[in-house]
Amino acid sequence: ERQVKEALILVNEFAQKWYEDQLYNTDEGKSIGLSYFKSRGFRRDVMEKFGLGFAPTGRNGLLTAATAAGYKEEQLEQLGLVRNKKDFFWDRVMFTIHNLQGKPIAFAGRILKKDVKAPKYVNSPESEVYHKSDVLYGLYQARQSVRKQDNVYMVEGYTDVISLHQHGVHNVVATSGTSLTPGQAKLVKRQTENVTLLYDGDKAGIKAALRGVDVLLVEGLNVRVVILPDGEDPDSYMQKVGVTAFEEYLTSKRRDFLFFKADLLLEEAGDDVAARSAAIRSSIATLALVEDPLKRAGYLQQFTGRLGLEESLLVNLVNQAVAERR
Ligand code: ATP
Ligand code: MN
Ligand code: MN
Ligand code: MN
Repeated sequence: ERQVKEALILVNEFAQKWYEDQLYNTDEGKSIGLSYFKSRGFRRDVMEKFGLGFAPTGRNGLLTAATAAGYKEEQLEQLGLVRNKKDFFWDRVMFTIHNLQGKPIAFAGRILKKDVKAPKYVNSPESEVYHKSDVLYGLYQARQSVRKQDNVYMVEGYTDVISLHQHGVHNVVATSGTSLTPGQAKLVKRQTENVTLLYDGDKAGIKAALRGVDVLLVEGLNVRVVILPDGEDPDSYMQKVGVTAFEEYLTSKRRDFLFFKADLLLEEAGDDVAARSAAIRSSIATLALVEDPLKRAGYLQQFTGRLGLEESLLVNLVNQAVAERR
C-alpha cells in the first residue's frame, strides 16, 4: 500500500519534470506556455516554486517519455496522466498539486485558447495518492507563513494563490473549484484556527463563501470573510491595485462571518418584514454552529447591538437553534 503510493508519486515526479522541461526547454512550450505565464505577470522563481509546466499539443509525448524511462503504462493510467493510450493533458499550461511533503500528487491543466468549448481547467482524477476533498492547493508552500501569521486566506483558484504569493502574501490556499469540505477544514485547523475567505467578487463566489462559512464553523474555526469588488478575483485585484492597496482592502473590508452573512441577507431582504426575519433566522442558524458558548455570546452581543432588537429574544432564538443542531 505504502510502496504502491510511493511508486505512483515517483511517476508524478517524472511527469512534473517532463511538463517543466516542455515549458522551459522546448520551442512550443516557450512560445505558448511560457509567454502565457509571463503575460499573467508570473516570475520565474514563483513558477518554479509552484511547479508550473506545459503539456504540448502532441497526444503521446508524456506516455512515450515515461514508458521509455521505465514507468508502467498502468501507473500512468491510475494517475489519470494517460487515458486510452493517449496523454490526458495536452495543449494546456500545467499546475502541480502537492501534498504536505511537497510531493506531486495531481495536476491541473488550464486551456489557453478562449474560443474553444473545452472546460477551462481539467484536473487529475481521484487516485490512491489524490483525494481531492482532503487537499488544499498551495498549503505546502503556505504552511510556514500560515503558522507565523496565524491566519490563512482561502481563495478559489490556482492563479490566485500564485499571484498573491508572488506579491508577498504567502499564507494563502485554494479550494480549487470544489466547495469547501470538512476534510479541508480539518487540514487547515492543524495549521491555524483563523480563516479568512477571499472568494471571487461575483454571485458564485458569494454563494460559495456562505457555504464555506458553515463548514469551517462546524470544525471550530474562527471565520472572517472579505468580498472583493464585483468582477474581481484575488489575482486580478492584486494585479490591478498592487500589494499595498490590496492589503489595505483586506484589513478594512474584513468582517466576521456573522455580519458578512447577516448584512448580505438583510440587504437582499430590503424592508420586507418576513424576508428580514428569515434573514435573521438563517444568520442565527449559522451562529449556532459556533461550539464555544463564550464566542457565541460575544458574536451575539455585537449582533443585537447592530440589529436593535431585544437581546432576550435573540438569545432565545440562538439557544433554540443550538438545541435543534444536535
Ligand atoms: P484564471 O485566472 O486562470 O482564469 P481562475 O482561478 O480565476 O483562473 P475561476 O473560473 O475563477 O478561474 O475558477 C476558480 C477555480 O475553480 C479554478 O482555479 C479551478 O481550480 C476551478 N475551476 C474553474 N473552472 C473549472 C472547470 N471547468 N473544471 C474544474 N475546475 C474548474
Ligand atoms: Mn469565479
Ligand atoms: Mn482569475
Ligand atoms: Mn477566479
